Amino acid sequence: MNIPKRKFDVVIVGAGGAGMRAALQLSEAGLKVAVLSKVFPTRSHTVAAQGGIAASLGNVTEDNWHWHMYDTVKGSDYLGDQDAIEFMCRQAPEVVYELEHYGMPFDRLENGKIYQRPFGGHSRNFGDTQATRSCAAADRTGHAMLHTLYQRNVSANTQFFVEWMALDLIRDQQGDVLGVTALEMETGDVMILQARATLFATGGAGRIFHASTNAFINTGDGLGMAARVGIPLQDMEFWQFHPTGVYGVGVLISEAVRGEGGYLINKDGERFMERYAPHAKDLASRDVVSRALTTEIKEGRGYGPHADHLLLKLDHLGAEVIKSRLPGIREIAIKFAHIDPIEQPIPVVPTAHYMMGGIPTNLHGQVVAPYKTGPEEVVPGFYAVGECACVSVHGANRLGTNSLLDLIVFGRSAGNQIIEDLKRNSHHKQLPADIADTSLARLARLDNQKDGESVAQVGEALRKTMQKYCGVFRFANMLKEGVEEISEVAQRVAQTEIQDRSRVFNTARVEALELDNLIEVATATMVSAEARRESRGAHARNDFPERNDDKWLKHTLFFKEDRRIDYKPVRLKPLTVSSFPPKARTY
Ligand SMILES: Cc1cc2nc3c(=O)[nH]c(=O)nc-3n(C[C@H](O)[C@H](O)[C@H](O)COP(=O)(O)OP(=O)(O)OC[C@H]3O[C@@H](n4cnc5c(N)ncnc54)[C@H](O)[C@@H]3O)c2cc1C
Repeated sequence: MNIPKRKFDVVIVGAGGAGMRAALQLSEAGLKVAVLSKVFPTRSHTVAAQGGIAASLGNVTEDNWHWHMYDTVKGSDYLGDQDAIEFMCRQAPEVVYELEHYGMPFDRLENGKIYQRPFGGHSRNFGDTQATRSCAAADRTGHAMLHTLYQRNVSANTQFFVEWMALDLIRDQQGDVLGVTALEMETGDVMILQARATLFATGGAGRIFHASTNAFINTGDGLGMAARVGIPLQDMEFWQFHPTGVYGVGVLISEAVRGEGGYLINKDGERFMERYAPHAKDLASRDVVSRALTTEIKEGRGYGPHADHLLLKLDHLGAEVIKSRLPGIREIAIKFAHIDPIEQPIPVVPTAHYMMGGIPTNLHGQVVAPYKTGPEEVVPGFYAVGECACVSVHGANRLGTNSLLDLIVFGRSAGNQIIEDLKRNSHHKQLPADIADTSLARLARLDNQKDGESVAQVGEALRKTMQKYCGVFRFANMLKEGVEEISEVAQRVAQTEIQDRSRVFNTARVEALELDNLIEVATATMVSAEARRESRGAHARNDFPERNDDKWLKHTLFFKEDRRIDYKPVRLKPLTVSSFPPKARTY
């Protein structure tokens, strides 16, 4: 079959904060850049980010990057790579000022400087007191950031392919990456996008869980595509559950609410976080707070007729603060919980929120995987940034506001690395003849499948399985059963059937193709979680309740083929300062 082909210097899959920050760097350097997105760029999930972006500007209280680095290492439960963490925290002020100069409308303090608010797990003086580090535009920081980046990209002539879905990564016999195949949703046509550098910025995969704060498009496509061509997925057992999703719907209530002074209460009106984290209380890190909520519910102190949720109280902040600093939250509470937080507390439960794992990269955004000789070599032509990547700065638990920072720091550094790499690699490599076969076979299967199950039904089974067997607390026997159940779901995924086989805007086909990616992410998660016999960060096991640095201070690598697991060491050595050695983690 003759498939149309287009050539670019760089193809970027994903138009969220990560993809657009990288694209900007590349387009401004004069390269020919294509950015693909399943949705209009400013509808990417980054738009939903509420609370802010971390940087030690010190606009409210004294601060420095070294304290930020300490918090991030501690927050990661020592699984984060300390070279990458130093790199990120040191660059934070610079990249935030850069956003400011691009025109990002941050809130302002009286003196005109960027407004900052406290956030969970961020401290001063190496854990001493609460830091005020999150730079914010009300509770719509991601919205402000994404629109700013989009406008800059338009003026830099980045070429957007809107409502295009990348299907598969093109990798040749040598293991080099040469572009992607993609589906134009409007027509149903398939195209080959050839590139000298291919960057994935496809975002998270929170849709593997039943209750999730993530957008419906967050289906882990980048991870699925990488896994299918033999790239391992790193640290997939670590999923962040956000403590405050709206009860019954999962929509996020930002930690900014607690940053502004809101707090959690149980059915007795008790401020229970004082028992779990006497020092940081409601602003302990997210894994700690989510476990506290789950324990309150389990021990019968939950609120409501089923005692199955808790309350987030903020009415004491006053109408003024709520309306000016948390307008989006108020809107969400009114719309989804049918209460006005100026008067009543918001009903909340822990909800799947963020994927700490992803495609393994170094701090230049280059994907590292077994290639020719070693287990951790740069894969030529392949880069990843943002939530789909694992650098790893978040380790076993991410601190709030560090993700937006990760997008901008590593989006920029990947852009710079690609500019350097393309100077040496000035020609497009020859494409193999069978290059689109995998994608065409996947589409043909869907067109010809008979007697299959619906995508909705199998998708529901996948999400229920993950929610039941791989949630906030994990149990040995449940994880074992979970591995078996998810294998059964995988067999069902391979036989889904769609009723609508038309070509134009066929969203049923898109959802079926997304399910192929969700199952890769779900399988990697369950298998990696079953294998890790300790509790660390967001991975809490009943049979191994303690962290075990002797055996488990290492990154997991999951390979799709034979579901093989391997491990690689954590990089404990920072770039210039001395290492923060693992110690007990308390808040
Ligand atoms: C509700 C919510 C609030 C949050 N608040 C904060 C916060 O305040 N601070 C913070 O630091 N972090 C926050 N986070 C986390 C942070 O927002 C995300 O981790 C981050 O925005 C992800 O950005 P990204 O660029 O990696 O991906 P995204 O913004 O998710 O973008 C992914 C892009 O990839 C495209 N894509 C995916 N698959 C394909 C495909 N197959 N073909 C073509 N295109 C594809 C999508 O269309 C999209 O353009 C929040 C997350 C959520 C869900």
